[in-house]
Amino acid sequence: MKRVHVAPTLLDAQLAADALSSLGIATRILNANAAGALGELPFLQVQPEVWVDDDAQAGRAREVLAALHAAIPRTEKTCPRCAERNPGNFLSCWQCGAPLPE
Ligand SMILES: [Zn+2]
Repeated sequence: MKRVHVAPTLLDAQLAADALSSLGIATRILNANAAGALGELPFLQVQPEVWVDDDAQAGRAREVLAALHAAIPRTEKTCPRCAERNPGNFLSCWQCGAPLPE
């Protein structure tokens, strides 16, 4: 087994595992249930981890996950009122509260 991904959330880990298993790469998610222990353990030790069963597939798995991560849109929106830049998923400007375009 080789670890190929440390996920910020269990959902993220599940998405990564699903993407890999759809390509025939067998995975396991470790620490899936550790989030409840947050506060008792150092944060980095309780993040969900995605492992591949077959070490020989670890390189391919990392490539797939890197491509998946790169495909996430990281657009920004410019506020029409104050011209502040906002993350693409914001619905209103964090600075002045004006609605942002879709
Ligand atoms: Zn604004």
